[in-house]
Amino acid sequence: MPAVSRHIVCLTFDFDTMSAFIARGLTTPMPLSRGEFGAIGARRLLGALADRRISATWFVPGFTIATYPAECEAIVAGGHEIGHHSWAHIPPAAQSRDEEEADLVRANSAIERLSGRKARGYRSPTWDLTPHTIDLLLTHGFLYDSSLMGGDFWPYRVRQGDRCALGEPYHFGAETELIEMPVDWSLDDLPHFEYLRTPRAIHPGLQPARAVMDSWLDEFLYMKKTVDWGALSYTMHPYVIGRGYRMLAFEQLIDRLMREGAVFMTMEAAAREWAERAGKPQG
Ligand SMILES: [Zn+2]
Repeated sequence: MPAVSRHIVCLTFDFDTMSAFIARGLTTPMPLSRGEFGAIGARRLLGALADRRISATWFVPGFTIATYPAECEAIVAGGHEIGHHSWAHIPPAAQSRDEEEADLVRANSAIERLSGRKARGYRSPTWDLTPHTIDLLLTHGFLYDSSLMGGDFWPYRVRQGDRCALGEPYHFGAETELIEMPVDWSLDDLPHFEYLRTPRAIHPGLQPARAVMDSWLDEFLYMKKTVDWGALSYTMHPYVIGRGYRMLAFEQLIDRLMREGAVFMTMEAAAREWAERAGKPQG
């Protein structure tokens, strides 16, 4: 009997609001107001998801839970998963191990107060991990991470103890229980769309929304063409995707994905489904 194919899409929203701007030192009224627009974007997204009965994953910093309690309660009421995204969007590489752990615990307490349960998933602000992050995530009971780029449609086990040295072959460490739900910059709305000017650089962004959504659709169609089971993740930020012309293109993408047979699920559910197929980690 042929295997039934199943093509999963995880819609993920990093609900940073002002936190990422503050963490970058951008604290004048204009950048803060860009983050503030995230609350409007979030309400639009929740409506679009509810209309289609889609459950998504929202990575919400503790800062946003404390600053926008009503919007965060609406996310929970909408049946979505709340993932961990630090307390204040400080890159973990800028923290000591103790600071990183304190941040992890503080944000998880805010998530537990909001949703009644601790986060099962973690996404690093800036998508970078420290030598301590995997240990801390395992210690604090996380099921998955979603910050690395070593795969696309097939999640994998995060390794510990990888080593690299210039001129030497790469050494792969042992797999852990932690599941990686891989991401990629090309499947993130921010680099495509956000115009960002800092004292050191200008990031142009501002790409046409439909062109980006066409590429995102092609990523799904390629998954459908090449694998029987796959889970594809898109990363979005309410203050970015929530602008009107982008919402229109994004909603059309979702509707097309539905017609193509996409199964929409939270990252936690997709990670659990993958784990059932993949079996235990290889030591
Ligand atoms: Zn973020």
